[in-house]
Amino acid sequence: MLSYEQARRTVIEQVAKARRPRATANVSVWDALGFVLAEQVRTDREYPPFDRSTRDGYAVRAADAAPGTALRCAGEIKAGDTVTQPLAAGTCVQIMTGAAVPAGADAVVMIEHTHRDGDMVRFDRVAQPGQNIVARASEAKSGQTILSAGMRLGYAELALAAQVGASQLCCSAKPRVAILSTGDEVVAIDQSPGAFQIRNSNSVSLAAQVRLAGGQPVLLGNAADNVEDLRAKIQCGLQEDVLVLSGGVSMGKYDLVETVLKDLGAEFYFDSVAIRPGKPAVFGKCGDTFVFGLPGNPVSTMVTFELFVAPAVDLLSGAAARDLPLVQAKLGAALNEKQGLTHFLPARVEWRDTTPEVKPLPWQGSGDVATLTRANCFLVIAADRGQVNEGETVPILLRKDMI
Ligand code: AMP
Ligand code: MG
Repeated sequence: MLSYEQARRTVIEQVAKARRPRATANVSVWDALGFVLAEQVRTDREYPPFDRSTRDGYAVRAADAAPGTALRCAGEIKAGDTVTQPLAAGTCVQIMTGAAVPAGADAVVMIEHTHRDGDMVRFDRVAQPGQNIVARASEAKSGQTILSAGMRLGYAELALAAQVGASQLCCSAKPRVAILSTGDEVVAIDQSPGAFQIRNSNSVSLAAQVRLAGGQPVLLGNAADNVEDLRAKIQCGLQEDVLVLSGGVSMGKYDLVETVLKDLGAEFYFDSVAIRPGKPAVFGKCGDTFVFGLPGNPVSTMVTFELFVAPAVDLLSGAAARDLPLVQAKLGAALNEKQGLTHFLPARVEWRDTTPEVKPLPWQGSGDVATLTRANCFLVIAADRGQVNEGETVPILLRKDMI
């Protein structure tokens, strides 16, 4: 049985191998958060376009502003002012943050380091040439590539695009991820379940996880635990880039997902992983569609999506697969888990000063979504660890929607 790291590598290898250029579309910079750029974005001019003051103060020739010297203030320059006049020798000019430094000036002295008396400004300290000035073109030359194809667009990337006037961005189409739950006991969330039925909460969590991963969810509802219904609905899902199923992959008599997929010509790269929850997770390919069969217990579905489906969505978006957000934390309470499987336990991490301390949350197992709403991470207990002591350093997998 593969470890979760091996299973993840398998997903990344298989999806990377099959990756083809994706359709693209122009997306407004206002709407492009989470898209992946499909073109390069270049500057429209130099950045900054002029020598820019980074402080409120006085523009001077550094050599004129020795400590104890007073210079006549010849005027002021606000941010946005057109600056044509050079600084006259033996004078200074008041300048604001973001304003253009006049020709002839080579330093800005912070207002806090000066004393003003009428027109005269006295300087406290030595001024260094270049201080508090960002030189024209020092951030980027005109026509320089500042964002490249394959970059994920977060708020800083969008701001940079906006700075250079790229208000429409050519982005890869988001991968379409079909979501199909399975189970005779499952009803739609707007129906009232019978005494022994449950609402289809997995399709809701999966759609949210698909969106967070940068994909476009395509909702296929629920398939009953029979070959005919499963086959028809799986065939719909095979029209999309990825098909994610929940339930029907365990050892039960009515766990038919793999049988139906096999019948439709799927090849499988793994059909179990040494983890808890989530051991029966299945990954394969049917035609051009990558298929994930995730166990139906809600927390198993959530964990296995993060571990295995998210990197596939990254790659199909035209980006690199993001690393898992694993960090080290100090364990706040001793643990004892069965060896042989890597455990992912709902837990809460809190930062004391800068040291993360994590405590597992008591829970009822992989059906217990209520506990997960109090968790902001999963404690990761390696397969070869049974007893873990309080105070030990342990890896945690952050819930990226919560931290
Ligand atoms: P399975 O993996 O099909 O054996 O299902 C395992 C458990 O997950 C059962 O208790 C199911 O009732 C539950 N389950 C299956 N599908 C869903 C779903 N779509 N939403 C919520 N719970 C589910
Ligand atoms: Mg089932």
